[in-house]
Amino acid sequence: MIAIYARQSIDKRESESIETQINKCLKLIDDEPYIVYKDKGFSGKNTQRPDLQRMLDDIKSKKIRAVYVYRLDRISRNIADFYQLFQYMVDNNCSFVSAKENFDTSTASGKLLMGILAQFAQIERETIQMRVKDNYYHRIQDGRWAGGPAPYGFKNGKIDDKIPTLYKIDDEISAVKLAFNHYEDDFSMSLGKVARLLESKGYQSRKRKTFDNVTIARILQNPVYAIADETLYKYFKMRKAKILNPIEEWNGTRAAAIVGKRVSNKNTRKYTDLSEQTVYLTNFRGTIPSIQFVKVQERLAQNQQIKRANAPTRMKELAGLLKCAKCEYAIKIYNDPKLDCYKNRGLHDCDAQFKSVDFEALRKSIRTKVIEVIKNLAERVEESERGYKKIEDELNELIEKRDNLIEQSLNNGKLERAFSNYIEKLQDQIEQKELQLSTYTPIKYEAFEMRHIEMELGDIEKAKEVYRKLIKRILLEENGDYTIEWKI
Ligand SMILES: [Zn+2]
Repeated sequence: MIAIYARQSIDKRESESIETQINKCLKLIDDEPYIVYKDKGFSGKNTQRPDLQRMLDDIKSKKIRAVYVYRLDRISRNIADFYQLFQYMVDNNCSFVSAKENFDTSTASGKLLMGILAQFAQIERETIQMRVKDNYYHRIQDGRWAGGPAPYGFKNGKIDDKIPTLYKIDDEISAVKLAFNHYEDDFSMSLGKVARLLESKGYQSRKRKTFDNVTIARILQNPVYAIADETLYKYFKMRKAKILNPIEEWNGTRAAAIVGKRVSNKNTRKYTDLSEQTVYLTNFRGTIPSIQFVKVQERLAQNQQIKRANAPTRMKELAGLLKCAKCEYAIKIYNDPKLDCYKNRGLHDCDAQFKSVDFEALRKSIRTKVIEVIKNLAERVEESERGYKKIEDELNELIEKRDNLIEQSLNNGKLERAFSNYIEKLQDQIEQKELQLSTYTPIKYEAFEMRHIEMELGDIEKAKEVYRKLIKRILLEENGDYTIEWKI
């Protein structure tokens, strides 16, 4: 089925009427059945148009073979949208024809143009992102709170009923002070110990009531508690953060806030490199002296390094993959060689015990399964390569046949007429095969050598690399049974 798409915005001067658009498209269509989709009174600036959406649904359910429009800008006035819509059609084997521009994606020049369009779309997307970002930074330069829900120690509020800010909650702020003081002073202090100390004094965290490593780390890392002066400025400068306010404004009357994507994991930021982050001054005063804040950051970074140096080696190639089947949190080795669920050990919130699991036996058993899968995968890769080759051979055969016929009929009008139907049929088949090849995705596993994989698994670093490619996670039960969730 053919789809004819017509759109007219409210501004009538800009374009032909819907009826004209449809008629122009109809001239290009022979006898094929068609459906008309029309959005009257809608602009082409976005894709929020009822009939456009309906057409996309029909394309998805493969009802539509080709979309016809009168002019390219009927489908969209925005290159990024346009390209996305076009890509959607390609994915659903639907071609796209524009009457006015004589543009047809089933031809080579149409495809070429789409390639160029794709690059413009990318540039347009990037420009928009940049503009949004600039506007955002401009907005927060007055110190307004831009971080969403208030962090521990604060509640959201508004100055003069309009500028977002944070108000301190005294009781929580004293818990924050306590956390900073203890973590700075006592060198045997860990995040877990700080958490228990706060609990023993009767403080409660917001969500879980109890504190844990993550909530404490989040508090200790947040400059929203710190007095923003020259020292703090220099600290952020050194960590390569982007700073919105000039140094003169860092005069100790405000706190600082970080915006930007979080790097290391969902919960905590990297301690050492803040180059992806932007820092700005808030519209309220800080509490923790900047020197103390900086000292605490240095200790956090140190502890992080120690942790990183220890943990992965203990867990060998299973680092990061082993999860508690009961609560799905990470399983780690706290007490070599015994395994423990992090939610049990760290958060006291899961009762799973893995004391009876033999870690070395578990590694061996998992390795056997991985090798099995890899061998199987090697067969699948070969099979898929054979499949690709077969289509390719068929295609070449068809092309040869067609070219022969064309050659024979070149100087012979009679033959030409006799062959023309057949040539056309062959051409159809050729295009069919080409399409098949272009959408054929053989399983790619060139990243590692199948044949030597068994030997390589002896090297923990290599094994880790292979495991990461193949395995999503491994759920371990208390009795040592496990389920591997594969990525493939
Ligand atoms: Zn657990």
